[in-house]
Amino acid sequence: MATGKINVSVENIFPLIKKFLYSDHEIFLRELISNATDATLKLKHLTSIGEAKVEYGNPMIEVKVDKENKRIHIIDQGIGMTGEEVKKYINEVAFSGAEEFLDKYKDAGKDAGIIGHFGLGFYSAFMVADKVEILTKSYTDGPAVQWTCDGSPEFDLTETDKDSHGTEIILHIAEDSTEFLEDAKIRELLGKYNKFMPIPIKFGTRTETLPKPEGAKEDDPAPTQEVDDIINNPNPAWTKKPTDLKDEDYGAFYRELYPMQFEEPLFNIHLNVDYPFNLTGILYFPKLTNDLNIQKDRIQLYQNQVFVTDNVEGIVPEFLTMLRGVIDSPDIPLNVSRSYLQADGAVKKISSYITKKVADKLNSLFKNNREDFEQKWNDIKVVIEYGMLSEEKFFEKAGKFALYPTVDGTYFTYDELEKKIKDTQTDKDDKMVILYASDKEAQHSYIGAAKEKGYEVLLLDSPIVPHLIQKLETSKEKITFARVDADHIDNLIKKEDTAISKMSDEEKDRLKEDLEKVIGEQSGFTVQLEALDSGAQPFIITEPEFMRRMKDMQQTGGGGMFGMGNMPDMFNLVVNTNHELVNEILNTKTAKKRERLINQSLDLARLSKGLLKGEELTKFINRSYEMIK
Ligand code: ADP
Repeated sequence: MATGKINVSVENIFPLIKKFLYSDHEIFLRELISNATDATLKLKHLTSIGEAKVEYGNPMIEVKVDKENKRIHIIDQGIGMTGEEVKKYINEVAFSGAEEFLDKYKDAGKDAGIIGHFGLGFYSAFMVADKVEILTKSYTDGPAVQWTCDGSPEFDLTETDKDSHGTEIILHIAEDSTEFLEDAKIRELLGKYNKFMPIPIKFGTRTETLPKPEGAKEDDPAPTQEVDDIINNPNPAWTKKPTDLKDEDYGAFYRELYPMQFEEPLFNIHLNVDYPFNLTGILYFPKLTNDLNIQKDRIQLYQNQVFVTDNVEGIVPEFLTMLRGVIDSPDIPLNVSRSYLQADGAVKKISSYITKKVADKLNSLFKNNREDFEQKWNDIKVVIEYGMLSEEKFFEKAGKFALYPTVDGTYFTYDELEKKIKDTQTDKDDKMVILYASDKEAQHSYIGAAKEKGYEVLLLDSPIVPHLIQKLETSKEKITFARVDADHIDNLIKKEDTAISKMSDEEKDRLKEDLEKVIGEQSGFTVQLEALDSGAQPFIITEPEFMRRMKDMQQTGGGGMFGMGNMPDMFNLVVNTNHELVNEILNTKTAKKRERLINQSLDLARLSKGLLKGEELTKFINRSYEMIK
């Protein structure tokens, strides 16, 4: 019928296609199946409006591997093309599409962040094939045609025989791409890119076991039959209406997405907008551990049910990349770099829509079943706290449902907590003091001292807590957070009846001198004499809030904020001058005995703070045995 030359501006784009997309040759299959899907859906549309006089039926797409002849066939029952259309769409449209794609890719490709290598389309076939044939027959009458091209700009177009409408693409696989002739490889790719495409995709057959006929004997084998092996689910849950789905359906879809994941998700969020952009999807909150990094890249991005990528950076706000699930949107530009993406208006809107939906869902879970929400808190707090830190909008919304658990397992919202403690827990500057612990075991005695006074102590143990409390302190007025071991409790919170010291100034000076003589040379404690209740412990080691918090923040990513290197530990040794033992130290005549009392007391205080380790711990234990024997 015709031979001709494709209108080429670059002498030969095929080597370019191979070169630029070297690591992504596998996308040819996604692109060709996408075309087959489009052609089928177009026919569906045309038959539904009465434009096409053919029967739509139950079309599918078939992928066949012919290893012997080194061919892959992709066969659809879609609209097909006439000879004129092949010239127009394949020689011109497809070609210019490929050229345009390569142009963009050359610039953005250096960015290494190209989203999904979408849009190369038909010509991606030449990444794996050295010859491509198209056999196609249009749904309109007219002869079927065969187009052949061997990768040079020359093509060949002839009339041929084909019974029914649709298109068959035959790839003659090149020597360097024979891996794609393995069934397992093709099956893997179909599973990755086409698992949820809207038209059934057949790849081979499988054996199905049928029920035994009535009256069959027990050891008669069950009958079997060969059936088409359809590899995809054309109607995944996210394409359905939320009202048509039950909890089980969401659970089943989660397992479909993550077959290797045995833990059930905590809850899900169904996304569904069509204005001002199109987006559907389902996000799941999995149980999270404190390790933020290993949990990323579990959300899959689709475009019209075609898998694009599982790196949703720039599309979903950072704190939500810890979630799982699917988002599907035709409005996310894909042939662009990540940095371009973040500046894109539509993408920004999508990102803030997702944030809002997540916040709304959390709020309704909290309102509808607070008890259940409290139980899940420990597993979801990392996401929420991280979101509060990184997204101002989310911070505002989270005010309603973010929880602050106490060491005893009571959960307060911020407002509830404030109401409870604002009159009883204030410091000398009249700031409300929120006491917290980060480790119930390690700070046991400090928590005990605070609780004895009737104060509330929160348990805040996520890794980003130091950053979060900093944020709360700056956004609320007149509040301050203090870890229970930041100072002695009576110094942290102002009391009406402060104890008065029974020691004279001269006695205090002498005591301090004695203490520093023994302690000063062996460790970096700052001795601080305090007149506390006689019931408070005699020696208490504290760690000032500010320095400790800076150190914590350094460890969790806020690192190098002030260009600080490793910050030293800073401890205070609070000595209670109203305690009997401290009086005994003061009044002991023999220096030896005094030294022993001081050392033993100091070690007990260090033990309580978890600071006594190694050789010093052994020495302490041996000394204690000596004393009781
Ligand atoms: P795109 O699909 O982005 O338009 P392609 O290069 O993949 O670009 O394809 C170019 C055109 O060729 C398509 O727009 C379509 O008109 C036609 N085409 C490709 N594959 C098929 C097919 N299997 N059936 C019918 N037409 C097809």
